[in-house]
Amino acid sequence: MSYEKFSVADFKRKFPLFSQPENRELIYLDNAATTQKPQCVIDAIVDFYQHSNANTHRSSHRLARRATAMVERVRVQAAAFLQAASPREIIFCRGATEALNLLANSLCSELQPGDEIVLSTAEHHANLVPWQMMAKKNQLTLRYVPDLAGVPEFDRLHEVLGARTKIVSLTGGSNALGLRPDFADIARQLREARERFGGNPRWIVDAAQLAAHEAIDVQRLGCDFLVCSAHKFYGPTGIGLLYGRESLLLAMPPWQGGGEMIAEVDLHQSRYGDLPHKFEAGTSSLASIAGLGATLEFLAGQDRVAMAAHEQVLLQKLHEGVATLPQVRLLSQPQHNLGVLAFAPVSGSATDLMHWLDGRDIAVRVGHHCAQPLIRAAGESATVRASIAAYNTMEDVDHFLAALRDYLSLSEVEESPAVQGLPDWQPDDLSALQLERLAAQRNWQDRYRELMRWGKAITEKPAIRCPENLVQGCESAAWLVHREAGGVHFFALDSDSRVVRGLGALLLTQIDGKTAGDIRAADIEALFTDLGLARHLSESRSNGFYALMRAAVETLQ
Ligand code: PMP
Repeated sequence: MSYEKFSVADFKRKFPLFSQPENRELIYLDNAATTQKPQCVIDAIVDFYQHSNANTHRSSHRLARRATAMVERVRVQAAAFLQAASPREIIFCRGATEALNLLANSLCSELQPGDEIVLSTAEHHANLVPWQMMAKKNQLTLRYVPDLAGVPEFDRLHEVLGARTKIVSLTGGSNALGLRPDFADIARQLREARERFGGNPRWIVDAAQLAAHEAIDVQRLGCDFLVCSAHKFYGPTGIGLLYGRESLLLAMPPWQGGGEMIAEVDLHQSRYGDLPHKFEAGTSSLASIAGLGATLEFLAGQDRVAMAAHEQVLLQKLHEGVATLPQVRLLSQPQHNLGVLAFAPVSGSATDLMHWLDGRDIAVRVGHHCAQPLIRAAGESATVRASIAAYNTMEDVDHFLAALRDYLSLSEVEESPAVQGLPDWQPDDLSALQLERLAAQRNWQDRYRELMRWGKAITEKPAIRCPENLVQGCESAAWLVHREAGGVHFFALDSDSRVVRGLGALLLTQIDGKTAGDIRAADIEALFTDLGLARHLSESRSNGFYALMRAAVETLQ
């Protein structure tokens, strides 16, 4: 199998971030957000500033010529990378987001009220919001590919195509689920719709994720436009590509105006420049373009089929491992997946889990991943996402799965019973919590387990979960209330995070039922540090604790 041909060790060695002493143990599974950069890309950026820095096109001196030649050379490389018919079809932009905004603004300015744009529920916000803005401005209608619990059924695209469809802008692979559509089937449905309704809907592929995992051939795909960001495929930030068929780009008005994109300007009108410069107003990210050139050369030197096969082996293993865990709900599927594992803990908070993994130097991401409609339709507010690149190893996967199992065994401490319909709040009974016992835990894992147990002492209090009681500065939602009787202060708190409830319980053992003087005198920060919490907990969890502490002290004023 071609996977055998890929040496992950050799590949990973090219990425200097992993050989830094502080990153030796790092397991980086946040590649859908951005990938690490190989040395050759970093060198190319430094080299540009050291040897070639000048603005392009405008001037004609030696350095400017050199920088200009570099930009146009990279454009030729980019055309080859996407198999475009000509470098004139390649527009440099800041990234996929800017490319999609360019398309939305330029294409929609030519549409009539009531014209339709087809999107899917799996789109990144970058492929939703610009169309929403244009739809509002120009009275266009947005239609969505039918979906099942948020997951688009691309084979039913034809159901929403009609005589008014002008634009079909779809993901080339979802960053939230990894789901990769069958492009040949989309092309077929569009072809049939053109035959049936006449018209010629433009097909845009958001290849922000796809470009990292597969070689792209825009001519074979048959799309009209395609966008991607270099930083997702081992390149620098600040540079992306917009591919557009030449005849279409020629007919489109530019989006942004400024220098470089004009042929002639007078006080009341301008004549725009030729392709591709018509769409590149202002100074481009020149050093990033130099880095992109090195990235494309780097990728051209790799066996991309073998790279993808290696990634798929890891992805299958991740899915197999997580599928056996009843405490989590798996949202991604291993089939037709570009490299994303997405799941949510059945109970407890996804953020707690992310911080636990972070404590083991495993980088994953938690949230809606800029795909809120999809995550919401799947019945979740946040998922944990582990996303793969070719430098990930089987050891990374094994460590991740082991850490996940450890966490889930820790959280098997039962959830505290929900107290429903509480008319008001009662202080929690914290008498069973012993600081000595927490301090006596031999290692961090045991201490963390004990802290989770402390979290159990904090009951759910729906009555206090309102905006006025929300503690500012805590990443997870946390609510704190206070009451004074005879100079003694009583507190109650609640949080959607078990760890924050545990930390809150620790705080309350120091301040609840005490006088203002005692509370002010208590050195809670020292206690937090002595218990090793400042060292082991992530910065945002520590900040959460301090935010609770500050909120409690503020109530005394
Ligand atoms: N589309 C998809 C599918 C993405 O994953 C991303 C980035 N997460 C974007 C668009 C936007 O890319 P960028 O932020 O680089 O512009």
